[in-house]
Amino acid sequence: MASSSNPWGSPPAVSPKTNPGFFDLSGGEKRPSSRSFKDVLTGPAEAKGSGFEFKKSTVKGVPAILFSEEDVVRLAAPYQFTLVGKFTLRRPNLDFIRGFFRNLKLSGNFSIGLLDPRHVAIQLSNDLDYSRIFSRRSYYIANCQMRLLKWTPYFDIKEESPIVPIWLSFPNIRLHFFNQHVLHAIGSVFGRPLQSDQATAARSRPSVARILVEIDITKNHPKEVWLGSEKQGYLQQVEFEKVPDYCNHCRIHGHSFSDCYVVHPQLKKIKSNERVDMKNMTGPNQKTVVTENGEGSENCPTEVRKITAREEAIINKEKEETIKGILMMLMKKLMCVMRRLMTDWMIK
Ligand SMILES: [Zn+2]
Repeated sequence: MASSSNPWGSPPAVSPKTNPGFFDLSGGEKRPSSRSFKDVLTGPAEAKGSGFEFKKSTVKGVPAILFSEEDVVRLAAPYQFTLVGKFTLRRPNLDFIRGFFRNLKLSGNFSIGLLDPRHVAIQLSNDLDYSRIFSRRSYYIANCQMRLLKWTPYFDIKEESPIVPIWLSFPNIRLHFFNQHVLHAIGSVFGRPLQSDQATAARSRPSVARILVEIDITKNHPKEVWLGSEKQGYLQQVEFEKVPDYCNHCRIHGHSFSDCYVVHPQLKKIKSNERVDMKNMTGPNQKTVVTENGEGSENCPTEVRKITAREEAIINKEKEETIKGILMMLMKKLMCVMRRLMTDWMIK
């Protein structure tokens, strides 16, 4: 695939001294010097520019250009470090978003382009920048929350990808398995391994190894893996950190299938009753939960709750204004009476 077919134009020149060309994802001399798995793994990136075959046909009554699954994956290869930024409410303009990413001082080039008014494509050029950006899951740009979603060849802006970066930890992993290749192999049981944390890379914390892996959270994953030879191995425990809620029905993050109002409308009534009881309490009923590092999740569909909260605010405001109005009226009346009394007294 030639770079001229980049639908988002050319990336801004961030570091012109080492500009390997945006799509030359593996050819750059400046390789990320780090804990990233790509460094420890050999194997060239997929051959680019080689021909692919397609067939003209008809599918469901419309003309079709058919590719093999392999060719689709091959065509998507240049976008392997692409994320989608989703703005739920407002979105700053593109230049502002580009400036934000420029300030992050990424190690490689990047390109930001609009997919639709709420979604931006963020094309990164190496796995290190990719896992750095994706591991945050969400950013605030000009006070607008931008959640990060994985781009895949099957990405649809109407849905949210259930593939998210999750930290996996392996408590009490045996010392000789504290090895990047071994950790990568374990990670690949669950998804696409991205990186290990600093302490794991430096082997400075032998009690636990931690790696970041892109995982499809709609799937069931084993909580243990067998490590070692068939006879001499052992069961290694695997812990998943902070797995976000995802609804398989709505195909969005923020609530689980069991909490889905669309699938279980009766929950809405129960929750709104709870809401009346717990009016001034915060907790899982909150619409948005924002954590310290700026990550947030949004419970959806919460239109009913959202409206109720707004209505509540309006009602409160109205009450406030009514009380103010009554007080003002009483004050005016009092002043009138006082003035009349004063006049009467003066006349006397
Ligand atoms: Zn749902």
